[in-house]
Amino acid sequence: MSPAISTTETQRVAIDLGERSYDIHIGADLIGHAGTFAGLPTANTGVIVTNEVVAPLYLASLRAALSGRHARVLDVVLPDGESHKHWQTLQTIFDRLLEAGCDRKTVLYALGGGVVGDMTGFAAACYMRGVPFVQVPTTLLAQVDSSVGGKTGINHPLGKNMIGAFHQPLSVVCDLDALRSLPDREFSAGMAEIIKYGPIADMAFLGWIEDHIEALMARDPAHLAHAVRRSCEIKAQVVGADERESGLRAILNFGHTFGHAIEAGMGYGAWLHGEAVGCGMVMAARLSQALGLVDEAFVERLKRLVVRAGLPVVAPVLDPARNAERYLELMRVDKKAEAGEIRFVLIDPPGRASMRPASDAVVAGVIARSCQP
Ligand code: NAD
Ligand code: MG
Repeated sequence: MSPAISTTETQRVAIDLGERSYDIHIGADLIGHAGTFAGLPTANTGVIVTNEVVAPLYLASLRAALSGRHARVLDVVLPDGESHKHWQTLQTIFDRLLEAGCDRKTVLYALGGGVVGDMTGFAAACYMRGVPFVQVPTTLLAQVDSSVGGKTGINHPLGKNMIGAFHQPLSVVCDLDALRSLPDREFSAGMAEIIKYGPIADMAFLGWIEDHIEALMARDPAHLAHAVRRSCEIKAQVVGADERESGLRAILNFGHTFGHAIEAGMGYGAWLHGEAVGCGMVMAARLSQALGLVDEAFVERLKRLVVRAGLPVVAPVLDPARNAERYLELMRVDKKAEAGEIRFVLIDPPGRASMRPASDAVVAGVIARSCQP
């Protein structure tokens, strides 16, 4: 693995999905430049979908960059937050598209974090049975995770991301400068998803993150460029082998089974998804250790890095009377459980992941240990 990498030149990761192939562009100062979007269809209408937080920051520059590509550039500014990722908000996108007479060639641009990306992608999958869209992710999490892979969707009152479609973007534009305005907690949450790729696929990358964690936390664009690129490459490789999630893709959920229990148990929003995943990875590493797949040194190493990324590593007590039972209960209703059997993503050995069940007793031991400081 190349150690240096310090470049702010725009880098490109090709996502190879046959007819649905596309490129991820990673670099500084991309949103405001027309050249970033060269090669994409020049339809009559482009529609930027964003939210009320991101619009004041980046809408004007994206609009300027697109003005030569489309005869008209419209925008839809959604309310901010996961609590608006539902059918009614999606409907406001359709209202706008229909009122403006948008046709099947209209290109949608998702400008924002994963919430805007998932909703815009789903709107693009549904509008007139499918229109093209471009991802312009502005959170670290969206750049390394949600904008890659083609999963789009919304929440239902009875479950997160339960309504959706696979719809691949035409292009993904990761502008590293946009990450400067991200709140610290959101930045750290994105770091969890970057760290995740090391244990499951590339221990040299984990070592590189450890060596450069200070520069990454300082949001140095050259270091971020490498971290985002390598993350996208690994996600692309996994997704390319399993576009519709029949098996392998599940390894991307390392730390997510325990993390899901934390998010749900604490009430969604109390812990950010990435915070729960950071803590959940340490728990999943401990479970791997309990099953003899990794050693203690590996667990401690991962834990140290998660701490340095500004993420929690002590698991919350979800129920003082029956804590392990509560965790197990929540993990059993996770989308990834099959017929009530929890399938954990375990590290086996470092740099590779596999899916396995584990006995309740062993999992309970890991939960008890993880709730101690
Ligand atoms: P988010 O979209 O809610 O963004 C987090 C916050 O940062 C929001 O308040 C947002 O307005 C704000 N923000 C965005 N960009 C900013 C910037 N540059 N500067 C300042 N503030 C900015 O959350 P997220 O973490 O990006 O995404 C989470 C969503 O992604 C969840 O809904 C999750 O289900 C989804 N997701 C989808 C996939 C997938 O494969 N489709 C994968 C992972 C997560
Ligand atoms: Mg995740």
